[in-house]
Amino acid sequence: MSLPVSELHTTDLTDSCPQRVLLRWEGKLLPHAPTALVRGMVAGSACRFMHESMAWDNEEAPDHAMDYAWKQTMQDLEEDQRILTEAVEKNKDAMLKEIRSVLDQYITRLGPLFAKTEFVGCETPCTMTMDGVKFASHTDLIVRDSGNTFGYGKGKLIIFDWKWRQESPSKAYLARNLQFATYWLMARRGEFLIEDWAGYTPLPDADNAQLVWLHLPNLKPYTRKTITYNDDKEQHEYKKGDVRPLRSILKTTQYTDTDTKHIEQALLRRVSMYKAGFFPATPEPNKCSLCEAESFCPRFDTTPLEGDANG
Ligand code: SF4
Repeated sequence: MSLPVSELHTTDLTDSCPQRVLLRWEGKLLPHAPTALVRGMVAGSACRFMHESMAWDNEEAPDHAMDYAWKQTMQDLEEDQRILTEAVEKNKDAMLKEIRSVLDQYITRLGPLFAKTEFVGCETPCTMTMDGVKFASHTDLIVRDSGNTFGYGKGKLIIFDWKWRQESPSKAYLARNLQFATYWLMARRGEFLIEDWAGYTPLPDADNAQLVWLHLPNLKPYTRKTITYNDDKEQHEYKKGDVRPLRSILKTTQYTDTDTKHIEQALLRRVSMYKAGFFPATPEPNKCSLCEAESFCPRFDTTPLEGDANG
């Protein structure tokens, strides 16, 4: 059996529910744009504006970034024929205020660091072919750190992924994160579209790119007294209103040459599973109720649920 799609996106590989991957391929998702999706898109577009304009010191830049981000998100959703949920419409102002406060911290805390690196690209399309299967994705932000500003190594290529999730990832979770591993492999042997005129090309000196999960919500200050390690690895008591250490915002993974084989195997195993038509529904107990495929997803009782099309 072959795959019903011409290329596999990292979303297809890393979805917590393979059943949803199949339903997405079959076009069976409700066209809803829930809060989590919209918030992530607006925050990402606002950060992108800052990197592309490089206006880190411009006082008006955050306002422009937010305007751009909202318009861009609406345009992207329209192109995808998605509609905002009622919850997004109702909480729009609060959501934008929250994103703006995070953006301000992004500019204040990370802007001076980013300003010392070389910007490579935002929302960069990338692709890689393995065993005849084309993998594709977009990376949120790529920079080259010639001066070792972030401390991962002089001249390192750093791939940042902007994440807005409730929970910050554990080391154990990140170590198994197939999306990050795929990005690392793509930097080694794939191709990236940095400039339209140049087409897809390999990234220079990207054999050991540094992957960083940038946990946007942790740019918000502490809301209560917290004792934890600071960036000098010393125990520190943070008061309500203090900003969090960078180590709680920038979460990294480390791969070595020997991991290449494991990553390839994990990706190809997932592909074989999909090719065999194996899309098991294995939702976690509390992770299934807001899925846009819920109306089409087989289930075994008939209790009306919130997501039912006629429910
Ligand atoms: S409703 Fe639950 S099981 Fe079905 S596709 Fe969505 S997350 Fe997966």
